[in-house]
Amino acid sequence: MKYYVLFGPPGAGKGTFAKLLVENKGYYHISTGDLLRKEIAAGTELGLQAKDLIEHGNLVPDEVVCGMIRSEFASNPDVRGFLLDGFPRTVTQAEALDKMLAEIGASVDRVVSIHITDEVVRQRIKGRALVENRADDADDEIISTRIRNYHEKTEPVINYYKAQDKYVEVEADGTIPENYAKVEVLVD
Ligand code: AMP
Repeated sequence: MKYYVLFGPPGAGKGTFAKLLVENKGYYHISTGDLLRKEIAAGTELGLQAKDLIEHGNLVPDEVVCGMIRSEFASNPDVRGFLLDGFPRTVTQAEALDKMLAEIGASVDRVVSIHITDEVVRQRIKGRALVENRADDADDEIISTRIRNYHEKTEPVINYYKAQDKYVEVEADGTIPENYAKVEVLVD
């Protein structure tokens, strides 16, 4: 079983590349953001807890997302591997993932990081707001909070995986097919 992490700031294209990788390589895509939005739409207890945090651009507690990942792994025992999109987003989540995988004799195979500048993050997110109708994409202040959270809480994950020699970065400065080609070669 392979475990790939698609890493990068909001708007980098993680979801877009994950969908293409599902079509081309047959991996199973887990997006913690999509799972949380489903919980909110279904009006579950978890969704109610997450809604306010997400709408203000803040991260949901580590235990919540780690629980969702654990249950996704358990519910999909027969896939050839997983593409994790939007997880881990903190060093605590990365440590929890390592622990979870160690329990089943597995480990993260590679972290493919998609790099774009903060300016491009802003443009992309605002463009996506028009298409996907996400409240957290539409407001400048919320976008700034998400960018700040990315730098403060998520970027430290880079050194965590560099220390394990698993981190590879792609400069996503071309078209979607050009950027995707750079990502695809890094996934078996
Ligand atoms: P995304 O669709 O990945 O941009 O996620 C949307 C929002 O869901 C984020 O801004 C966070 O509020 C929340 N979220 C998604 N994944 C995580 C995670 N791994 N840890 C904490 N919060 C998350």
